[in-house]
Amino acid sequence: MTQQQLDAVVEKVSKEFAALYGSEPEGVWQAPGRVNLIGEHTDYNDGFVLPVALPQAARLAVARRADGVVRLHSAQGAGGTVEFTLDSLRPGSVPGWGAYLAGALWVLREQGHALSGLDLHLDSDVPTGAGLSSSAALECALLLACDELFGLGIDRPTLARLAQRSENDYVGAPVGVMDQTASLCCAEGAALFLDTRDLSQRQVPLDLAGAGLALLVVDTRVEHGHADGEYRHRRSGCERAARLLGVPALRDVEDVDAALAALADDEEAQRLARHVLTENDRVREAVRLLDAGEFRALGPVLTAGHASQRDDFRISCPQSDLVVETALAQGALGARQTGGGFGGCVIVLTTPDLAPAIAEAVTSAFASHAWNAPTSFLATPAPGARRVAPTAE
Ligand code: ADP
Ligand code: MG
Repeated sequence: MTQQQLDAVVEKVSKEFAALYGSEPEGVWQAPGRVNLIGEHTDYNDGFVLPVALPQAARLAVARRADGVVRLHSAQGAGGTVEFTLDSLRPGSVPGWGAYLAGALWVLREQGHALSGLDLHLDSDVPTGAGLSSSAALECALLLACDELFGLGIDRPTLARLAQRSENDYVGAPVGVMDQTASLCCAEGAALFLDTRDLSQRQVPLDLAGAGLALLVVDTRVEHGHADGEYRHRRSGCERAARLLGVPALRDVEDVDAALAALADDEEAQRLARHVLTENDRVREAVRLLDAGEFRALGPVLTAGHASQRDDFRISCPQSDLVVETALAQGALGARQTGGGFGGCVIVLTTPDLAPAIAEAVTSAFASHAWNAPTSFLATPAPGARRVAPTAE
């Protein structure tokens, strides 16, 4: 996104704020969505992930109020303005989309931070439910805004933990910590190599254009109705595997072959563990390749990650598999479904010249199945969450 485009977006959200609430916002904060290059379903196993922030972001115009009232509005959310008092916040007290923002305020108060009421208006171009983490973008934009407006002095990894806690305990979604950390901690032009156990992290330079490559994101537009239940089932299966192996988390397995042999009597636990253990290895291998500038060699690592999700973790779907197959047949270097699973988006590593043909081939393959037309865009590693107005100049 150019500065000019960003200025236009900031002006729009500020104007809409003023029309809704009758005064100017004190500032606009934005937090991005993300794609995960590799490291799927590893975050709740204390493992490794490698996300990249997207230019698509949630933008939140905010002003403090003198009382304890909170008003929320979203350009994309149904039902007009949502209103509640800070004192009335209990897990689940605000339903629907407002829960993601209410939860962020709830968790700050749980931590003993003093807040005042707020007026908020949100405008996000992160597609929702597509595995690009639109939910974390909302939470992180608000937590960063509160940190600055109320002078809380909370560091970003801690804000990410709070965002996760609000999504777990307020919204009721048992998510790991990757999405929130990616939104808050990613840097422009880099992937974030993150250890989800202690949130230690390193920016891994990812100059795709410089390497003559592009990352195509294809949205299958498949939203799995039972994704929550499937997620819980995988998560408890991983916990069972760790228990059977006598380790605190699958992350702690040292001898992969021995661990898989030890799980021979529990076919499901063995499959789930095999995905997580080999996926952690793939993240470390991907980082090694990026550090060495061997960007093209990343392709087969991505494709192997897809096979593992499809065959071992069983979280793919026919649409995602078809995108991967079609992209590879068109000459892509590698491809995999990204995000929680059962649809959402597929990332394709390719040379830029092939990207349009890949997108076209995927579209016609989907048409031949009479599936919804997929959408696609090229991802460039964007900055993490920040205030975009007023800017310090
Ligand atoms: P993902 O994070 O992969 O996009 P989730 O199911 O975790 O999918 O989060 C999607 C939910 O986040 C939406 O159903 C909605 O409640 C909320 N949400 C995301 N973006 C917006 C927005 N711009 N306005 C209102 N709600 C939003
Ligand atoms: Mg989400």
